[in-house]
Amino acid sequence: MRDDFDLVVSGAVVVAEHDIEAADLGIAGEKIAALAAPGTLRGRRTIEARPGSVLVPGGIDTHTHIAWPIADGVRSLDDFASASRAAAVSGTTTVIDFVPAADGSLTAAAEARLAEAESSVVDYTFHPVIARITPRRLGEIPALVDAGMSSFKIYTTYDDRLDDAEIRAVMGAVAEAGGLAGFHAENHSILERAKSAVLAESGAVIGGFPGSRPGSAESAAIGLVTHFARELGAPVFVYHVSGGEALSAIETARETGVLVQAETCTHYLVLDDGVYAREDGWKYVITPPIRDAAARDRLWDALRAGVLGSVASDHCAYGLEHKLPGAADFTALPPGAPGLDARIPFLWHHGVTEGRLGLRRFTEVSATGPARTFGLYPRKGVIRVGADADLVLWNPGREWTWPAFPSGWGSDYEPYEGMTGTGLPELTISRGRVVASDGRFTGDGATGRFVPQRIDTRLWP
Ligand SMILES: [Zn+2]
Repeated sequence: MRDDFDLVVSGAVVVAEHDIEAADLGIAGEKIAALAAPGTLRGRRTIEARPGSVLVPGGIDTHTHIAWPIADGVRSLDDFASASRAAAVSGTTTVIDFVPAADGSLTAAAEARLAEAESSVVDYTFHPVIARITPRRLGEIPALVDAGMSSFKIYTTYDDRLDDAEIRAVMGAVAEAGGLAGFHAENHSILERAKSAVLAESGAVIGGFPGSRPGSAESAAIGLVTHFARELGAPVFVYHVSGGEALSAIETARETGVLVQAETCTHYLVLDDGVYAREDGWKYVITPPIRDAAARDRLWDALRAGVLGSVASDHCAYGLEHKLPGAADFTALPPGAPGLDARIPFLWHHGVTEGRLGLRRFTEVSATGPARTFGLYPRKGVIRVGADADLVLWNPGREWTWPAFPSGWGSDYEPYEGMTGTGLPELTISRGRVVASDGRFTGDGATGRFVPQRIDTRLWP
């Protein structure tokens, strides 16, 4: 019996890097220090897992927009203190958020964002958004990569979009610095043309929204950025893949040797385009749109097969005040939805409980894959000796009706309201500290820390 640990979780089924079996896990300080047979470790504090509990690596959400600037002087309804509590209770121990597009220095914008995140209760890093490029801003990329903000976001549509030549220039600069360029990939002119056609045919009713952003816009943009990736020998990431056309474009790129990773999001996996016929269809104006049920099934297949490496939330805590003025006009609605706390419970229910993903694959797409893609592995995303003790203890039998946790950390509406599931986190540990227990934040304030990325495509999933 070893008894020199700070904290021991005893007797859960542990999804460790190489094995899934009942074990004791010992934590010393902030790190995982031992894995041993059940009943053989003791610590200053020992948590006896109830029978059937499962211990997995803390989730990594690769796509959140916390306290997001949605108009001049207007932010979404959360901040890093509240949003990170939602992360902790729902099983996410690291978030990768964004540095909003800057008109001035990228470095200054990144520093401002780091200061905002100091109130976080879970760990974090950032993808700086690159828009309106200048030689000076291109020149700042190596310093950001060195500082550990090594993955960048580039838009192919919206006001922050870059044109094709600018995209190629940024991809070259990012790759040369050892970073990773990621894309909101929807071809702008295809979107514009499709939107005009929908408006002429049926006006701006919400039912027309998915038709205004066809899947071909995604595949065209992915085709372009993966073409540049091939030409430049650069790795590339695709945010929020919504359906089959985007998946085909990714598979085609991979078959020709392009290093490409991609995520999908909760809403594409658990909803379908029937939501746009609902009275509250405005809640689901998210870009790219939620596609049909066949697309949803294809995303699950792609998640199982490894075409997609992660599931993110694309969380943005809009409120009724931002959404209701445009509720009957998709062109007036700011796109996006809250979902940071829904990501892991919904992935568990629709994945593990309903048999679409095994425990291994659940762990890969919620934690290990994101860590590998974004340069956080092996410090994050994996249960092995030496890794950060970021852990979530699951009660797989716990039934819930959404929202499963007390609200009050952001938005005042809920896209998944009333949906039901089975399986919830009962304990979340962040770098050795218990930060949440049974749906309540139990941590010690702002103990989250910036965690630098070191992108290494040899470790990609
Ligand atoms: Zn987003």
